[in-house]
Amino acid sequence: MRILIANDDGIYSPGLRALADVARRFGQVRIVAPDVEQSSMGHAITHSRPLMIRPTSIGDHEAFRVNGTPADCVTVGVAEWGKVDAVLSGINLGANLGNSVWHSGTLAAAKQAPLLGLRGIALSTPVKGDQPDFGALVPWVVRVLELLLVKDGPQLVNVNFPAEPRGIRWTRQSVRHYDGKVVPGQDPRGRPHFWITTVALEAPEEGTDRWAVEQGWVSLTPLRLDLTDEEALARARREASD
Ligand code: MN
Repeated sequence: MRILIANDDGIYSPGLRALADVARRFGQVRIVAPDVEQSSMGHAITHSRPLMIRPTSIGDHEAFRVNGTPADCVTVGVAEWGKVDAVLSGINLGANLGNSVWHSGTLAAAKQAPLLGLRGIALSTPVKGDQPDFGALVPWVVRVLELLLVKDGPQLVNVNFPAEPRGIRWTRQSVRHYDGKVVPGQDPRGRPHFWITTVALEAPEEGTDRWAVEQGWVSLTPLRLDLTDEEALARARREASD
C-alpha cells in the first residue's frame, strides 16, 4: 500500500514525523508537506505561480517539501508518485473538531484525496502547554489505521485523539455557534491590530466529535464532500412544482 503523508503544520512538525513512523507499518510511506506552517488555510490551492518540490530529510523517510498549501501538497504529491492508495494528514498540533473542519488545512489535505478518487484520513490531537505525547498515542494511531486502512473504512474520516484515550467512538460533526470574539491590541509602533478567536458558545451535543474528545474517546467522523442540504432541496423542488 502506498501512503502519502501531508499536514498543515509544516514538514518539520513532530506530529508529521510521528504519523509517518506509524504509517510505515502499513505500507510504503512518502511525505509531501508544506515548507512552512499552513494552519487554518482551509482548502486553498495555488494557481497563480508555480510550485517547487524539494527533497528534504525527515528521519529516514522519503520526504519532499512544497512551497504551497496542504491541498497543493496532496495534488502535487499524488501526481508525482503516480499510484497512491491513501492520504494521511497530521498529526495536527491542535484538535480539529466541529467548526474547525471548515478552515482546517489538515482536513483540506485529507479532503483533497477523495477529490482525486483516493482515501483520505485527517488526524489531530489537542495541545495544552507542551507538545503532545505522541509516543503515548502510537497504539491508538495503530488501532485507528487498522480500522480505516486494513478493514476498509469510509473514504474520508476526521480523527481526533484526546491526550489519554479510553476507547474509540464513531461520531458526527458538531456544528455549534461561536462567539467570533475579536481581541484588539497594538503592535510595537502603536498601530492597532486584531486577533480572531473562536470560542464555542454552547456545550457539544452527545455523539458529536467535540463531545467524544471531551469524554476521552478517540473520535472518528466520516465526512462527505457533498454539502447539498437535501431537505432544503426537496422542499424547494416541491414548491417549484406547485
Ligand atoms: Mn495545524
